[in-house]
Amino acid sequence: MTKFAVAAPEEAYLDITGSEEVFPVRRIYCIGKNYVAHIIEMNADERDPPVIFMKPRDALVRNGGEIPYPVFTKNFHYECELVVALKSGGYNIAERDASSHIFGYAVGLDMTRRDHQAEALEKGLPWEVTKAFDKSAPIGPITRADDIGIMTKGHVKLDVNGETRQDADISLLIWKIDEIIAKLSEQNELKAGDIIMTGTPAGVGAVVSGDVLDCSVDGLEPMQVKIGQPAA
Ligand code: MN
Repeated sequence: MTKFAVAAPEEAYLDITGSEEVFPVRRIYCIGKNYVAHIIEMNADERDPPVIFMKPRDALVRNGGEIPYPVFTKNFHYECELVVALKSGGYNIAERDASSHIFGYAVGLDMTRRDHQAEALEKGLPWEVTKAFDKSAPIGPITRADDIGIMTKGHVKLDVNGETRQDADISLLIWKIDEIIAKLSEQNELKAGDIIMTGTPAGVGAVVSGDVLDCSVDGLEPMQVKIGQPAA
């Protein structure tokens, strides 16, 4: 048995609807610029290809709950997204085979330090500071693809304090889920436990301590997140 010299990191996993089993998370891939209306609201070129980045798996917050207002930002944004979980992977997966690797789907939030994203874009800096910080990935329970089939459409919606801010449909994804899986597998070997945040529709905005976010995608378990007091 491996003897760790210091405390080993906690396991990262997601709940599975209707199951006592949980889904172990290996990597969190994220797709940016994947809805035209969001690209336009970000003042980017709608012909820009979607971008790929990652969050560390310890950024996961299982089933939402309360997350503290993070350090190092004054412009903390929500991005409600469909999340895809993989049960298998490989290199160079063909689009026609991609759906056979899908374990299920969940609702997630790609929480973002928008102030630092603007700075990173302007200076050509990496995105970790804006995307890959503590508790930046609240994700709800996974619904198995065996139970709901392969998702190609469905209403995606986010309310802040009961007021709708994001309202779109999964069918509007620029890169479809099969294309995302194929593209990611050109760059890395995908494996069971990988999850993909597929991008956010228009309507992103800032939240403050005390705000309550309700995110949903048709057919999946909704998730509620409350923004708590500052983390430090
Ligand atoms: Mn996003």
